[in-house]
Amino acid sequence: MADHASLDASHSTAGEAPRISFVSLGCPKALVDSERIVTRLRAEGYELSRQHEGADLVIVNTCGFLDSAKAESLAAIGDALKENGKVIVTGCMGAEPEQIRNVHPGVLAVTGPQQYESVVNAVHAAVPPRHDPFLDLVPPQGVKLTPRHYAYLKISEGCNNRCTFCIIPKLRGDLVSRPASEVLREAEKLVNAGVKELLVISQDTSAYGVDLKYAESQWKDRQVRARFLDLSRELGSLGAWVRMHYVYPYPHVDEVIGLMADGVILPYLDIPFQHASPTVLKRMKRPAAQEKTLARVQAWRAACPDLTLRSTFIVGFPGETEAEFEELVAFLEEAELDRVGCFKYEPVAGAPANDLGVAVPDEVKQERWNRFMEVQQRVSARRLKRKVGTRQQVIIDSVGLTVAIGRSKADAPEIDGVVHVASRRPLRVGEIATVKIERADAYDLHGTAVGF
Ligand code: SF4
Repeated sequence: MADHASLDASHSTAGEAPRISFVSLGCPKALVDSERIVTRLRAEGYELSRQHEGADLVIVNTCGFLDSAKAESLAAIGDALKENGKVIVTGCMGAEPEQIRNVHPGVLAVTGPQQYESVVNAVHAAVPPRHDPFLDLVPPQGVKLTPRHYAYLKISEGCNNRCTFCIIPKLRGDLVSRPASEVLREAEKLVNAGVKELLVISQDTSAYGVDLKYAESQWKDRQVRARFLDLSRELGSLGAWVRMHYVYPYPHVDEVIGLMADGVILPYLDIPFQHASPTVLKRMKRPAAQEKTLARVQAWRAACPDLTLRSTFIVGFPGETEAEFEELVAFLEEAELDRVGCFKYEPVAGAPANDLGVAVPDEVKQERWNRFMEVQQRVSARRLKRKVGTRQQVIIDSVGLTVAIGRSKADAPEIDGVVHVASRRPLRVGEIATVKIERADAYDLHGTAVGF
């Protein structure tokens, strides 16, 4: 995912403010980092430029997770150097600056992930800020690179797990959770500014607060523990949709399903299982690998029948046998997950997984991926079809001449499907309408607005 920073013209100030062009690559967590940097720079009077050309400086927030993401980051840096010449690099790839400097010795500075201060200092050194406290107006909730009606809310940085295919803990360090009161304050500001949907993200959302020993902090008239359940309940009380991403199937997640059944937070879990064979999961060193996942999924569905489950999987992990792959396919058939992404294993430089077994040949990876997708597409289509004839609440993301595009409670932005909504009156972006679902195709739903 790549986003060029863009800022509503109404935020721009006239005059000679230095202009920064910003490229944000990678996952939603990186996008949140980008928003923080941009908010800070806007507060200091910098303006954003939609193009590298003519800007005073370019910042590239990189992704260093997979080799393909690194290549994309290096290409983005190359483009910025060509089109502008003054480039600062930050983000995951910045944790290993030599990888960048070897290819692009001309970059002005390289800083690592979450090093907001270092990025800002590098910007100051390259293009000093213009001080004008009266013109440097920033909305109190900060500048968001996502549309105004939804926002990502990062509750922690880093990760205590050591999945063997992943170098994120090496890049971002161990889990550091934000106190509950700080998260809630940010969430409340966003809701007050018009945000209708909060997307909770971290590397491991279910581990929230472990590092803080679940410490309480003062929020309004009460103490709130830094615990997944407590934070979810409080976020759910703010009046926005709350969607949980990157949760692992630990036993304590069961408690949160109760909040979903009661309508406090959205009945949606983004839960990256990555595999279903116990032996592969063990080699992957996945969190909660010992849990009886299928039984847990079934119990969640019984407690919250509307629950939507999204997940991602890796096929062709080193040493994956045909029998292990078949265990995965059997799981897909039985678990009936709603939305699923599948990746062919790609070796990540520095990840222990590369030495864990014989590499699966590319053609076998491809063949397994095809079989996986075939099974899952059938399952997903079947799940989606069950919605035909129901009424769903749909949040509107964009409006066209005759049809608006929105998402039901089952659809996260950018990764899931959409709902095409016909309406007898124009709908507004951010509005939540009741939609009668008339048709389903492979990924999306189609219907008519029947309540506003
Ligand atoms: S849970 Fe595993 S895959 Fe996710 S960030 Fe942590 S180590 Fe990486």
